[in-house]
Amino acid sequence: MTSEFDLIARHFTRPTPSADLGIGDDAALLRVAPGHQLVVSCDMLVAGTHFLADAAPEALGWKTIAVSVSDLAAMSAQPRWATLALSLPAADEAWIAALASGVHACCAVFGIDLVGGDTTRGPLNLCATLFGEVPLGRATTRDGARPGDDLWVSGQPGRAALGLAHLLEGRSLAADHSGDCLEALHRPQPRLGLGLALRGVASAMLDVSDGITGDLRHILERSSVGAELDEGLLPLDGLVAACGDPSRALAAFLGGGDDYELLFTASPDERRQIAEIATRCGVPVHRLGRVTARAGRLQLRRQGDHVEALDANGYDHFRTVDSRSA
Ligand code: ADP
Ligand code: MG
Repeated sequence: MTSEFDLIARHFTRPTPSADLGIGDDAALLRVAPGHQLVVSCDMLVAGTHFLADAAPEALGWKTIAVSVSDLAAMSAQPRWATLALSLPAADEAWIAALASGVHACCAVFGIDLVGGDTTRGPLNLCATLFGEVPLGRATTRDGARPGDDLWVSGQPGRAALGLAHLLEGRSLAADHSGDCLEALHRPQPRLGLGLALRGVASAMLDVSDGITGDLRHILERSSVGAELDEGLLPLDGLVAACGDPSRALAAFLGGGDDYELLFTASPDERRQIAEIATRCGVPVHRLGRVTARAGRLQLRRQGDHVEALDANGYDHFRTVDSRSA
């Protein structure tokens, strides 16, 4: 019988050059660069809630780290170290090996050392904590949006939601788009380079895990502003091509979660610089609308110029529970 220690040694222990002490003692020893703040983010993925129980373990390992990289990217922080807490129903070695290979692949891409964790038997549950650095006082937070700022998003939000509906409800996708949508769902690409480059350029930023409308509300609340999205600016063509239905495309764009794109605000004076940063980072960015003065009001200017209020129809775990019990 393989012991927990053998499993950890075989699958999770790797060289950790950036740590004074990594896996194997009671705790890891880390040194933050002088003049920097330690940035910490923790994300838990629960089978049945955040992923399907039969999800491929390699992709799951990637995603467990990637979602936290996305959080640090949204703070304009450089991830450096990770810990990984696993609750596993059984010691299925091939499954654990595949999970670990996804974890190490994501860590390697983003320059992260895995310095510790915990492994226990229980319902399938994966929890990564990421530790990173940002120069003192330079993190991009959610509270800096100002009326008149532009509102931007990276990449193509909505694809992961179309991929999930395809898997769960059999909703058809154009053959040449289904691969992209499933890839967005299973193997999100955190926008670390973009998030770092936007330090000092974006006035507020977050990563989109629960849908644009739902997550944008967090910026509006923290910054005490409103926002107006302009339907004519939204990057919907790719989604319409994938699902063949403009209203489904709009719903996936506004309400779909799990894409891990960056949503940010910036002064209109920064437009040229943002375009240059996007080109340099190889990530498209789209201007969606603007920040307004009326705190908390979120609206969509439709094509015929009439304006609609937008619900926070992002995916909210607790609201889902409430509405079930109501
Ligand atoms: P302790 O009982 O002192 O908490 P453990 O036996 O749980 O120690 O873990 C031994 C070492 O292995 C520790 O350094 C811990 O951080 C590391 N570790 C345990 N599980 C994992 C994991 N899934 N990934 C990475 N490191 C792990
Ligand atoms: Mg332990």
